[in-house]
Amino acid sequence: MISILDEVLEKVNILDIVSQYVKLRRTGRNFVGLCPFHKEKTPSFTVSTEKQIYYCFGCHEGGNAVNFLAKYERSSFSEALETLAHQVGIEAVGRLSARRTPVIDALSRLTAYYHESLLRYAPAMKYLNDRQINGAVIAEFKLGYSERSIYGKEFAKRLGIPMDLLLSTGILKMRDGGEVYDIFRGRVVVPISDMRGKVIGFGGRAIVRDALPKYINSPESPVFSKRSVLYGVDKAKREITEKDEAIIVEGYFDLIALHAAGIKNSVATLGTSVTEEQVSRLRNYTENITLMLDGDEAGVKSALRLITLFAEMGINGTMVVLPEGQDPDSFIRLQGLPGFQRVMGEKKALLDYFFDLHVKKHGMGTLEGKMAFIRSVVPYIEAMRDAVKKRLYIQRLAELTGVEEYRFWDAFKDGRRETERGDGEETGSVIEEKVVGIVMNRPELLRLVKGKGVEASIKDRDLGEVLSRLLKYEEQHPDPDIKLFLNVLERPELREKAVAAALGGAECDEQEVERIVSDYLCHRENRLIREQAREITERLAEAEKRGDEEALRELLERKRNVLTAMKNKSAK
Ligand SMILES: [Zn+2]
Repeated sequence: MISILDEVLEKVNILDIVSQYVKLRRTGRNFVGLCPFHKEKTPSFTVSTEKQIYYCFGCHEGGNAVNFLAKYERSSFSEALETLAHQVGIEAVGRLSARRTPVIDALSRLTAYYHESLLRYAPAMKYLNDRQINGAVIAEFKLGYSERSIYGKEFAKRLGIPMDLLLSTGILKMRDGGEVYDIFRGRVVVPISDMRGKVIGFGGRAIVRDALPKYINSPESPVFSKRSVLYGVDKAKREITEKDEAIIVEGYFDLIALHAAGIKNSVATLGTSVTEEQVSRLRNYTENITLMLDGDEAGVKSALRLITLFAEMGINGTMVVLPEGQDPDSFIRLQGLPGFQRVMGEKKALLDYFFDLHVKKHGMGTLEGKMAFIRSVVPYIEAMRDAVKKRLYIQRLAELTGVEEYRFWDAFKDGRRETERGDGEETGSVIEEKVVGIVMNRPELLRLVKGKGVEASIKDRDLGEVLSRLLKYEEQHPDPDIKLFLNVLERPELREKAVAAALGGAECDEQEVERIVSDYLCHRENRLIREQAREITERLAEAEKRGDEEALRELLERKRNVLTAMKNKSAK
């Protein structure tokens, strides 16, 4: 059975999709344009209509039509697939979203219902207006109110949603007596949307003083997960990309206050601390994340837990701590935009906060204090991926403790040597990439590399994995199609490697390709034989020293075979 994905990729032309967003011009067999994913002045973004893939030689972003749309629209792979399927009129769309649509539809009708109720209910309107949330903001965020009423069958009919579907959202509940009530009753309701602006759940705030709990959210469901949701991201994503920074606050009213004040590159968690899922979503738009926190110690502590996560994900994390007793909502109401700009000007790197905190806690006056400090900060520096930043922090660590900098190098296994070695092997991997690219373009040449363990000896591990996956893929899909093969590579790094190799391989002269591959294989075999010979020589010396006759005989026999192999090769 052919999958929807295959079907869609067969029907769409990547040129039609990409050219909706990028101005392309033809060069030779490809099209090029300015890359939409990084800033550049000369085009390095390439589209191959032949292979139905794109690749940017500047930022190494690449893939098929679905990958492009997902990346550009900042949506998930399945959402992009759904959009494309719809565009080419594939009926199967229902199969993708059958489970989701009725619930999403119900939530959207509830949103409209709550919104109308709010506009009718003066006390709730007054509550919002008192918080400086005006009509325009209420309309923009589709804020609502849930009445304190008991719902009956007419309600479901009026909304056009079956009662059991409403109950399945977990928002309406049935008491033992059969009475149906709303978990948000008597609350201002805030619709929470996904990346594309579809409502997936609600938050509710009590408007009566001292009502508990103050905030509640929709129950967890297949469409709504508190851990991964970022409130406001649908409205903020463009601005986050433009400003190349995202501000995270902790509550929906904090976010609404920031947006209302014109600070639109902000998103909010639903009162929880920031999770890895949320960070990886944001990383599609920016690597600069600023946490804006209430001035209480608990908030600061939970933010500091993110240092390692940010370091591992290559996120440049900074933090703004508001004056004691203030949250972003109250702060922006009191201090306005100038106050906001002032505190943003004072933001500090997360790790700097951490350093300050520990210096304060342990003191640097005693040896014990210094040791405790080193022990607590080392793990965080170790987790950093950015080598330059890592060096800077090691420098600071050295300054603060008075320990010579070089003494920390071993502890941190400085990344410099590895990169230097990588550069030296550049030429080898260029050829390897060419060879992988050639066999991707001309699957009939795969027979040349099959069964020789070439994939395992490729120095670039990702590239080696691409080849090994291609060899496996070809067993089930003879004459593999690259744009479809890309779908089995889940890791973006692998996809990038594959697309770069495929485009490079396509450039090779048709007459030359077979020779390039066989030259490479021959060169590789020579290298393996030489390595073998060297190893045997070393072991011979050892065996001689030990006086191990049996080992000597065996090794000499192996050496003769290797020498014969070498001679045969040079005779060819
Ligand atoms: Zn690019």
